[in-house]
Amino acid sequence: MKNVYIIGGGPAGVSAALYAKRGGLETHLIYMKKSSLGMAHQIDNYYGAPGVTGQELYERGLKQAADLGVDMIEEEVLGISFEEKFTITTAENRYECDYLILATGAFRNRPAIKGIREFEGKGVSYCAVCDGFFYRKKKVAVLGNATYAAHEAEYLSRIAEKVYVLTNGKAPEDEALKNFEVIEKKIASIEGEVKIAKAVFEDGEELALDGMFVALGSAGSVELARKMGILVDASNKIVVNENRETNIPGVYAAGDAVDGIMQVNKAVYDGMLAAQDIIRKQKGS
Ligand SMILES: Cc1cc2nc3c(=O)[nH]c(=O)nc-3n(C[C@H](O)[C@H](O)[C@H](O)COP(=O)(O)OP(=O)(O)OC[C@H]3O[C@@H](n4cnc5c(N)ncnc54)[C@H](O)[C@@H]3O)c2cc1C
Repeated sequence: MKNVYIIGGGPAGVSAALYAKRGGLETHLIYMKKSSLGMAHQIDNYYGAPGVTGQELYERGLKQAADLGVDMIEEEVLGISFEEKFTITTAENRYECDYLILATGAFRNRPAIKGIREFEGKGVSYCAVCDGFFYRKKKVAVLGNATYAAHEAEYLSRIAEKVYVLTNGKAPEDEALKNFEVIEKKIASIEGEVKIAKAVFEDGEELALDGMFVALGSAGSVELARKMGILVDASNKIVVNENRETNIPGVYAAGDAVDGIMQVNKAVYDGMLAAQDIIRKQKGS
């Protein structure tokens, strides 16, 4: 039997998991403790659950999937690649899958640093696997302070001449960051002419750079999609068809990660569509 891995335990991911499992698929769901749903103080516009807090709804969803027998994996996904099958890399493990649903929520990783948006595509990147090659033997920085940043820095260290880690005022949270030159100072701006040339810190010091890779927090929808060559539109939404399938056959995206109203109702609908399409394909094969 072919398996499906769903990344994301919010409304989109759990809805997909419920349909996939009930449709007879071997179903795995990878999620983390935090979700944007958990930030909602009170949900009053979702069917049958007035006044529920976002966190309660989130936990109820995860429990519902677990009670149904979905394989629940609480791990942070760091990257995805495609060899013979899709391979998901987490901080602890690697998983191979036949079908994949990305339900990691909206893109939220752009930091509020002057110059970041201006230099996107001109030295500022959100994907080391995609753009690392352009920085062969050059000086780059990874912006972040946790496991995902360490993962991106490790990848870049095989290509670039020098890899700094800029934590922008935060304490490093992953042991592996010790392998790099870590600068904890707050960044005032990113500057350059046509392309990025330097980071300027709040104390006035400057660091010459050819590129900067943003890896704040954990990898979200856009970062994971780009690592696989999945199309992402100008508003940082994953491009999907009416069944929520991306340009890579077998890979789907659902919820806030794709275009449309960012609400629980729509996320639940998206998850269902993706799972139903996989079930249809599985029956046809
Ligand atoms: C403050 C606030 C209030 C809101 N109020 C409402 C409301 O009243 N009504 C309403 O309908 N909607 C509301 N929303 C919107 C609603 O929360 C979202 O539309 C909905 O949660 C989207 O669901 P999702 O499954 O796409 O993503 P999310 O709910 O964001 O879930 C994403 C999942 O992906 C996981 N994940 C992310 N990255 C990784 C990774 N690298 N590895 C492993 N797992 C990962 C997360 O842990 C989480 O499980 C509100 C949102 C906010 C922020």
